Amino acid sequence: MSKKGLLLCVCQGTCPSFQEMNVFEVLNAIRREKIVDFVGLHPQLCADDGDEYLKTLMKNKEIDKIFVAGCDPRMQQKMFKDAFKEVGFDVTKHFGVDIRNMKTEEAINTIKNLIEQN
Ligand code: SF4
Repeated sequence: MSKKGLLLCVCQGTCPSFQEMNVFEVLNAIRREKIVDFVGLHPQLCADDGDEYLKTLMKNKEIDKIFVAGCDPRMQQKMFKDAFKEVGFDVTKHFGVDIRNMKTEEAINTIKNLIEQN
């Protein structure tokens, strides 16, 4: 079975870019919509332990698509590509979206659009 998941990444939760949204409400709203199989939050995916988290998660061959809401998608691609390649995850199945400086509702809608369009 192919599964898809959403990860939120929040620059350790201390960056002003994420102060306007309630990240738990964002995750809950997506869960309630049942448009992904799982959700998760990592404080800093671009740190070494973030790499480890991505490798551990994406080793699971049942996961077919991963959506990451956080910083600029091109930055995400650069930062995550080695981890994805190392475990054989197709990097074109990673869909990133920038939610920095958004309020809760705006972030929810942006993420929903990303998921629905992919
Ligand atoms: S991956 Fe992006 S959103 Fe996550 S901590 Fe790094 S810069 Fe911030």
